[in-house]
Formats: sequence, C-alpha cells, structure tokens
Amino acid sequence: MKKWSLKGKKAFITGGTKGIGLEIVSDFLKLGADVITISRSEDNVALILDRFQGENLEAYVCDVSLKESRQEMIKKLGKKLERLDILVNNAGTNIRKKSYEYSDEEIRQLFELNYFATVDFCRGLLPLLRLSDGGSIVNISSIASVLDVGTGFPYASAKSAMNQFTKSLAAEWGVYNIRVNAVLPWFIKTPLTEGYLADEERYQKIIKRTPLNRVGTPDEVSALVAFLSMDISSYITGQTIAVDGGVMASVFGE
Ligand code: NAP
Repeated sequence: MKKWSLKGKKAFITGGTKGIGLEIVSDFLKLGADVITISRSEDNVALILDRFQGENLEAYVCDVSLKESRQEMIKKLGKKLERLDILVNNAGTNIRKKSYEYSDEEIRQLFELNYFATVDFCRGLLPLLRLSDGGSIVNISSIASVLDVGTGFPYASAKSAMNQFTKSLAAEWGVYNIRVNAVLPWFIKTPLTEGYLADEERYQKIIKRTPLNRVGTPDEVSALVAFLSMDISSYITGQTIAVDGGVMASVFGE
C-alpha cells in the first residue's frame, strides 16, 4: 500500500490557503506529505499555519502573478529543499467580462497568474524535481480551457495554454521520470465561485447542464490531485483530466 501514500514526499502547492488549494494541502498532510504552500494574504497564511499547527506545513506570502516574487520563491525553495517530489500549480483567478471590455493590462495579468506562473515554477523548480525518485507536477486548469463557459476569454485561453504546456513538458521530462498532468474542474463551490453561483438563475442553468445535477466540492478535485501525485499513478502522464460531473460527456446535461 506504500504506493497509495504521500508519506515523506516533499510537496509545493501554490494558492493553498482557500478553496481547492486548501483541500489539497489538507489531503496531502493527511497522506503524509511535507507541504509548503503560498498565498498573497498574510492573514490567510497565518490562518492556515494556525489550523495545521504541529503538522508538516510551511506557508509563506508570495504573489505568484509577479515574476520577481516567483523568482524569490524559487530561490527560497532551492535553499530549503534537498529535492522536490510534487509541484501543484493551483493559484489562479478570473476577471469575468465581455471580450471587448478587457484592457490589455487585465489580459496580461490573467496570463501572468494562470499561465506564466506555472511555466516559471515548472522550469525554475526542475533542478529540484530532477532530484526526486519520481517527480509529479499537477496543473490545475479548468473546463473553461476546452469549452466556452461564458466566463471570459483571457482565463480560458491561459488555461488552454496550460493544457498544452502540460503535454509538452510530459513529453520532454519523461526522461527525468517527472510526470506532468492537468486537472480540469467544472464549477466547484469555493470562495472564487461563491458570488457567481449565488445567482439562482445561473446556478440552475449550470446544474441543468451537469449530468450529476450539482456543482462539485473541493475534496472531489483534491482526490484526483492526490492520486496523480502518488507513485500508484506512475504510468499516467501528459493527461488533461476533467472533474466535471459528466459535463464533457454530454451536450444537454439530461
Ligand atoms: P479560490 O477559492 O479563490 O482560492 C485561490 C487560492 O489561491 C487562495 O488560497 C488564494 O489566496 C490564492 N491566490 C490567488 N491569487 C494568488 C496569487 N496571485 N498569488 C498567490 N496565491 C494566490 O480559488 P479556487 O476556486 O480554489 O481555484 C483554485 C484553482 O482552481 C484556480 O486555478 C482556478 O482557476 C481553478 N478552477 C476553479 C474552479 C471553481 O469552480 N472553483 C473551476 C475550474 C478551475 P490569497 O487570496 O491569500 O492569495
């Protein structure tokens, strides 16, 4: 059963203080991993450290949408760790507008956070991942990367780029025994979507389109992330896997 565990694995998870990331941190700790996570807010970092006091968790403030902050974090991890086994690129957000309403700055910002942060962490942490016996990278993408969900093109395009980056890295880094996969959630109840899903008409439209007739929960995403990070999934790489209640299998949802 050793392969069904994360015992002793060193994991770095971005955006682990709320929503899906928080659930990933919590599952990873339960499964025996040593976890380092980051988020922008000092308060969120303090809260998570308090919540998991006494467990193998370190948390730091870092805004991953800023290149300099990413570089600083990569340097810090280089000094701290003798190797890295798991990297989860989870931090992400959206600005929902019509295509003609976005400023160039907003489009660039969404690409920095949802795409370039992933590129920088994967490439910057490659030397540490190569020191693992079998590294695993999991990129948190979205169903919006493959279907228009009406939540804006910059986020969708950045996540599509993340999917292709995932496949390219999987092809290139197999030689280092590093696996790279992406997880594509449909609507999941988190602080990010709380306000959006509060609109009853929209919520009904979403669940009608979903064969399982409900939105997902963070633990339903973190379960797959944990599986993809374990040695039990050692022959799975280059995949973009939906966690979507059946949405990708159906046009009408009923
Ligand atoms: P969330 O509830 O807003 O949580 C996001 C986490 O990332 C928080 O811990 C947040 O902490 C951190 N974060 C946000 N921006 C950051 C930045 N610039 N630098 C560092 N940390 C940052 O979001 P979520 O719903 O869990 O989403 C997690 C991932 O799943 C995202 O990549 C999102 O695109 C993807 N996703 C979500 C859904 C969904 O329905 N929820 C669907 C598809 C895909 P701070 O605020 O302290 O920075």
